[in-house]
Amino acid sequence: MDVSPNHTSQRCSTCGFTHEDNRSGEAFRCRKCEYANHADYNAAKNVGCRYLRRRQKAGDGGAPVGVRLNRGTLNVSGEYAPPPTAGDGATA
Ligand SMILES: [Zn+2]
Repeated sequence: MDVSPNHTSQRCSTCGFTHEDNRSGEAFRCRKCEYANHADYNAAKNVGCRYLRRRQKAGDGGAPVGVRLNRGTLNVSGEYAPPPTAGDGATA
């Protein structure tokens, strides 16, 4: 049994679907939404999303946050849905 800690390489950064068949070698292709990209790039986006999500929960008050990837910048308002708790902003 092979339990890899690196499931980010098998997780679709677009829809979140995780499957070992999503990745074949250096190519990533989601079995669910057909999203395709370089496997490492997809994994990097997953890590970036995780980081951004944590930042959002920290309640920065909508400050623009981004994560630089090897190519381009991933934005919160881009390709991933924010967590439900970060919806209306914390007005305390
Ligand atoms: Zn997908």
